[in-house]
Amino acid sequence: MNKADSPANATSIDFDLLIVGGGMVGASLAVALQNSTLRIGLVEAQSLHSNSQPSFDDRGIALSFGSQRIFQSMGLWPEIAPYATAIKHIHISDRGRFGVTRLSADKERVPALGQVMTARELGRTLNQRLQTLSRLSLFCPAKVTALQAHTDHVEVRLDNGDSIRSRLLVAADGRDSTIRQLLDLGAWQQEYQQTAVTANITTDKPHQGWAYERFTDTGPMALLPMSDNRSSLVWTVRSGDEQDLLALTDKDFLDLLQQRFGYRAGRFTRVGQRHSHPLVLMQSDMPVQQRVVFIGNAAHSLHPIAGQGFNLGLRDVAVLADCLADAGADCGRMDVLQRYQNWRQKDQDQVVHATDKLVRLFSNDIGLLGQLRGAGLALLDTLPPAKRLLAERSMGLGDRQPRLGRGISL
Ligand SMILES: Cc1cc2nc3c(=O)[nH]c(=O)nc-3n(C[C@H](O)[C@H](O)[C@H](O)COP(=O)(O)OP(=O)(O)OC[C@H]3O[C@@H](n4cnc5c(N)ncnc54)[C@H](O)[C@@H]3O)c2cc1C
Repeated sequence: MNKADSPANATSIDFDLLIVGGGMVGASLAVALQNSTLRIGLVEAQSLHSNSQPSFDDRGIALSFGSQRIFQSMGLWPEIAPYATAIKHIHISDRGRFGVTRLSADKERVPALGQVMTARELGRTLNQRLQTLSRLSLFCPAKVTALQAHTDHVEVRLDNGDSIRSRLLVAADGRDSTIRQLLDLGAWQQEYQQTAVTANITTDKPHQGWAYERFTDTGPMALLPMSDNRSSLVWTVRSGDEQDLLALTDKDFLDLLQQRFGYRAGRFTRVGQRHSHPLVLMQSDMPVQQRVVFIGNAAHSLHPIAGQGFNLGLRDVAVLADCLADAGADCGRMDVLQRYQNWRQKDQDQVVHATDKLVRLFSNDIGLLGQLRGAGLALLDTLPPAKRLLAERSMGLGDRQPRLGRGISL
């Protein structure tokens, strides 16, 4: 028998489940499984107390209605709610064209179309909960630097020299996943040559829960309602052009934003720190491997045009937690991982491809396409069933839901 296939002695296995990456997705998985009997370890490269963890910066995260329900089932919503601002209405428009679509929570008969908070606030809440979980072993700050996958366990090496053995490894280590590189796996990538500039903006009139998605000839802009009458801006520009936006004085930045966005949200009066994020679409070729599964941005990283990246990753978390909770003693068996992937594949493919199509449709200003786009938005506004479908999708509802998505705790 090859050494890589020799069975490990049960007592030499440290964990049933080792999560690599404690960003929003990996941390959410640890919290989702807080009541399970699984022995869980989590390795995270950044200190939990760091203020400069890039995954937990000031970008606004729009949580779908479905994501809110998952956090409610995990018992975490009461801690998130004080930071969250409800999206009551969504206004989608195309700069310089006539088409507009509006969605409203009242019409969809839900309390909110989504909830917005900064990644920093969500990260802080998750990290506080992680530190209360007595069954969770945290390796932090520490990085995985080597990995061997065997038939019945994985063995990882950390940068501090420690070795850990686990029945299953969940790679939640982001778009440039070290685990994917260590396993020499491929991924489908689309370079958009676009960069998102993010900042929190204050307006002179109350946002009243309005979110805006505005397509312009230089790329889409989104404004999400947040606490203290701030709105979270995502302004997509051609890569390279972000340097000009970052270099502008606050006043010049606000003037240009006003000019590009118009006055629908009021007059822009203040801008917080600006950050830039290069945008790439990535989908891992092999999200399930022997004893390894990829979730969140490590499995699929999206353009933020529709604010779906974390929502999709949280649905990975809810389904994986459901499968693992039912798996029995060895949660890393291939049949368990295959059940997970069969359940997730359709949603992942649909969201990845729909996001890609949306980026291409709205980044392309060829005359006829632009007119069809405007007409499409205007038509959509008059078709309640189509709008309902759009609202359902953006609320993260629709497919077969795992227990956490149905309000049932694990
Ligand atoms: C501008 C912008 C706006 C967005 N807006 C929204 C939105 O409104 N709604 C939405 O749903 N999504 C949104 N997203 C997407 C969302 O931010 C991501 O989907 C989400 O942050 C992914 O989280 P993750 O935990 O999978 O990955 P990451 O946040 O990348 O976390 C990976 C973690 O793994 C750790 N790590 C990496 N390598 C190692 C290693 N070798 N060992 C140990 N640890 C390691 C890192 O330190 C990090 O903490 C937005 C994204 C951008 C860029």
